[in-house]
Amino acid sequence: MQEAKYYEKLPDKNVRCKLCPHNCVIKPHKISPCRARKNIDGILYAVNYGECVSLAMDTIEKKPLYHFHPGSLILSIAANSCNFKCAYCQNHEISQGKSLTKYISPEELVQIALKENSIGIAYTYTEPFTWYEYLLDTAKIAQDKGLKNVLVTNGMINEEPLRKLLPYIDAANIDIKSMDPEFHKKIVWGDLDTVLNTIKITKKYWAIELTNLLIPEYNDSPELLQELVDFVASIGVDTPLHFSRYFPHYKFKAPPTPIETLKLAGEIARKKLKYVYIGNISLEESSEIEGSSTYCSECGNLLVTRSYFDIGITGITDNRCDKCGRKIDFAI
Ligand code: SF4
Repeated sequence: MQEAKYYEKLPDKNVRCKLCPHNCVIKPHKISPCRARKNIDGILYAVNYGECVSLAMDTIEKKPLYHFHPGSLILSIAANSCNFKCAYCQNHEISQGKSLTKYISPEELVQIALKENSIGIAYTYTEPFTWYEYLLDTAKIAQDKGLKNVLVTNGMINEEPLRKLLPYIDAANIDIKSMDPEFHKKIVWGDLDTVLNTIKITKKYWAIELTNLLIPEYNDSPELLQELVDFVASIGVDTPLHFSRYFPHYKFKAPPTPIETLKLAGEIARKKLKYVYIGNISLEESSEIEGSSTYCSECGNLLVTRSYFDIGITGITDNRCDKCGRKIDFAI
C-alpha cells in the first residue's frame, strides 16, 4: 500500500482524490468507488498497489494493437479496480467484483517479463489508470530494462497525472465507448470530453489505436459512427480504429451486434480512415467481412495477415511495402 499521488486533504479528515475527473470525496476509513483507494485517517492510500488479479502472456493483437510489433507476445497484467462502471463490462468479475489478488513488486514484475522474453508489459483487462502509482513505478523500471509499456485504457484521467506518465508509455489502445456524452454519464459513469482529450494528448507521444464496441440501439447509429470517424480523422487518418462486436454480458441483455452493423461501420470508416479493423467475430464470419489484416494504404498490398491470432508479416521488407516501396508507418 502506498500513499496516493494526487489528492487533497479536506476538513474532518475527508480527502478529495484528483486522479480522474470524478474527483471523489472519500470519507475517513472508506474505500473509493473505483476500489483503488482508501482514506485512512485523512490520508489517501493506493490500496491495490502491486495487487495483481490476472497475469498472462498474450499476443499484442489481443489488446488490440495491430500497428505495434505485430505478432509479438506481451506480459499482460491487471488490477482489481476500474473508474468506469460499464453495465456490459466483459471483465466485470475482476473490474467490479471481489477477486483474489497476489502482490508482485514492480521489480519482480519486470523480471517476469524479461524471463518470458516479453516485448514489455501490458496493463490491461481492467483500468490501468486506477493503478496509477504502481503503473508509474513499474513502467519506469521496465523502460530502463528496454521493455515496452502498453496500456489498454478507458482514457479517464486528469491531465496532470496523465502528462507525468507520458514519457514512460509506448503504446495504448483507448476505448471510445460512444460519441454520445449521455451514454458516458448513464451507462458507463464516464466523461466523453476527458476521453477525447486523453486521446488528443497521447496521440502526440504514444502509438495510439482506438476501439469502439458497437452495442445495438445504444451507440451504433450511422450519425454516431460518422461522428466517431470524423473525430478519429481529425487526430490523424492513419490512426487505427477497431470496431468490436458486442455480446450480452453482465447487466446488459441487448442481442449481439449484427454482422450488417459491423459491415456498415467498416464502410463508413474506410471512406476517411486508412486502417479500420473489425474484431470479436468468428472465423466463419471473418470470411464475409474483411476486418483483421493490414494492407498498404498506398497500393493495397497485404502487409500483415491475421487469422484470429495466427499472425504473419507477409508484405514488408526493410520496413517498406514490398510491392510499392512505401515506408510503413508502424513499428514491427
Ligand atoms: S481514481 Fe477512483 S477515487 Fe480517484 S477520482 Fe477517480 S474514481 Fe474517484
